[in-house]
Amino acid sequence: MERTLSIVKPDGVQRGIIGEVIRRLENSNISIIAMKMLKMTKAQAEGFYAVHRERPFFDSLTDFMSSGPVVVMVLEGEQVIAKYRELMGATNYKEAADGTIRRDFATDIEKNIVHGSDAPETAAFEIGYFFNRFEIVS
Ligand code: UDP
Ligand code: MG
Repeated sequence: MERTLSIVKPDGVQRGIIGEVIRRLENSNISIIAMKMLKMTKAQAEGFYAVHRERPFFDSLTDFMSSGPVVVMVLEGEQVIAKYRELMGATNYKEAADGTIRRDFATDIEKNIVHGSDAPETAAFEIGYFFNRFEIVS
């Protein structure tokens, strides 16, 4: 069993796509074992995306991620990291496969509706960034 962190980004919340993301998770038999809404500060977004600190898009990305509320969830299941990334689609919505969340809803390489961890180590860091163990049901 694996766990991964999902975020419905500010564009997804603002555009009313929270329910659609959750519906797709439930239809894929992915378990949601923690969930909350919060609004990150710029510093919190910078800490979350610290691996991207040197990238040209870092400042814009962290402005965007702290621009409004997000919904953070912990997902659990077999190979859920890859399974959820498949549901999300490629980072660039133009390259994302048909039927993926990003292909269906994203408008921009930055404003791409959802986040998902990319490996067990990053998932552990990202889950711990938002949730303590009493907030995760299993
Ligand atoms: N991003 C961006 N421009 C780029 C690449 C990424 O604005 O050229 C943003 C986008 O919101 C992406 C996030 O930075 O989701 C993190 O990038 P990463 O490469 O980790 O993509 P992801 O894992 O989210 O698919
Ligand atoms: Mg990533």
